Amino acid sequence: MVDISQMLFDRIKAELKEYEISVRIQKTSKLTSKFERGYKSKLKFYCDECYRNWNSAQGQVTINYYLDRGNQELEYNAETYRQQCSECKQYCEPELYFDEVKRLSEWFAKDVINILYGIKKTPTTKPKESNMNTPHQSELCEACKLGKCKVQKENNLEQLFGKMNLGTQKRNQNYGDRDFLVDFLSNLQ
Ligand SMILES: [Zn+2]
Ligand SMILES: [Zn+2]
Repeated sequence: MVDISQMLFDRIKAELKEYEISVRIQKTSKLTSKFERGYKSKLKFYCDECYRNWNSAQGQVTINYYLDRGNQELEYNAETYRQQCSECKQYCEPELYFDEVKRLSEWFAKDVINILYGIKKTPTTKPKESNMNTPHQSELCEACKLGKCKVQKENNLEQLFGKMNLGTQKRNQNYGDRDFLVDFLSNLQ
């Protein structure tokens, strides 16, 4: 698990400024009560043992947060997860693309505005393009092992409900019904 709270801070703060929501980073363990949002993100990895690098279109970012509605305060903590090198099995920390830092901050800030005021704003940023169609390798994914992986949750949902409305073609669209369902179910746990 890799803490990326600081990386997103300035942008989340800027997005929420006009709503006068103050933002604070808080360790997950210190959040008085917490909710969770998961976002899939394209991540890059590098193994310094084998000098291999790879991209994952199915990286995972989890934001734990608590909103104090009365005082308009947001506390959050953002983390991403390592993947094991397929050669040497060493755990490697991901690096975030700058575009993805911008997008994740914006998407999360818009989710916060929606939760607080019921205003649904369409994000201006889109997930980073990916032409990779390789199946997710759960056995190398730290998020899967910790039960935090959205890809894994989606696969479970597909098994439960079939592919009907949860079709894979929606996977790269803006925060859709499918994501909402996955987050909704995560928060029930
Ligand atoms: Zn390696
Ligand atoms: Zn996974």
